[in-house]
Amino acid sequence: MKKRIVVKVGSNVLTTEKGKLDITRMSALVDQIAWLRWHNYDVVLVSSGAVACGRKELQVDHLLDSVEQRQLFSAMGQVKLINLYYDLFREYNIHIGQVLTTKENFQSERSYQNQSACMEVMLENGVLPIVNENDTVSIEELMFTDNDELSGLIAKMVGAQMLVLLTGVDGLYNGDPSEPGSEVIRTIRPGDDLSRYIQSEKSTAGRGGMASKYKTAINVAATGIKVIIANGNSDNILIDLAEKPKETIHTEFIGSEK
Ligand code: GLU
Repeated sequence: MKKRIVVKVGSNVLTTEKGKLDITRMSALVDQIAWLRWHNYDVVLVSSGAVACGRKELQVDHLLDSVEQRQLFSAMGQVKLINLYYDLFREYNIHIGQVLTTKENFQSERSYQNQSACMEVMLENGVLPIVNENDTVSIEELMFTDNDELSGLIAKMVGAQMLVLLTGVDGLYNGDPSEPGSEVIRTIRPGDDLSRYIQSEKSTAGRGGMASKYKTAINVAATGIKVIIANGNSDNILIDLAEKPKETIHTEFIGSEK
């Protein structure tokens, strides 16, 4: 029986400081996802990065408000993002499909079932879904907090055994990650409350941050799905997590017994 895993990759991992897609990093992630598929995992990829890589595409000579910026940059950036994934996965003969969604699609039973059927038909046919929020039409008050929240909803929808949140740090630290002496908390059990360790800084390239990862992780783990926060910039992270989890630094939220 195949295991299902949802991998969410943040904008900070996928883009360089200059706002370009980090092709080397994306290529390494694609290699690892191909490896997971050979090793009997069905993978769903939730990928941020559209707004961050769309920002530098066009010189706009007048000020845009935040909604206009999100709509314009996500529309342009998503094309770049999915094109690069297409080329990289094609090297492995892996078919990809793009799923752009909004929070409204998770709110009514009918839309939920429709979205769920879409994910199933892709997975059943060996197509790798690459999911992002449809920032071109999402309405501010009805948006996902960020893709961490979206990936949690997707993990529940597809009945995943595991959700991996790949970010720019090694996991949840028991202090400021830049301070010597701070360490990654390796295991969080159901009922543990470690919110006192959460730093409030937000991601520089995307909308998320550790607070929202923690919230998503606690919420998803409570439904029995194991959640991992790990460093998307460390080479081979997905393979190391699968093959030698003990030696690989990360934070694991143990799923509650169902
Ligand atoms: N959907 C946004 C994008 O693709 C990312 C949201 C987030 O940072 O979580 O740029």
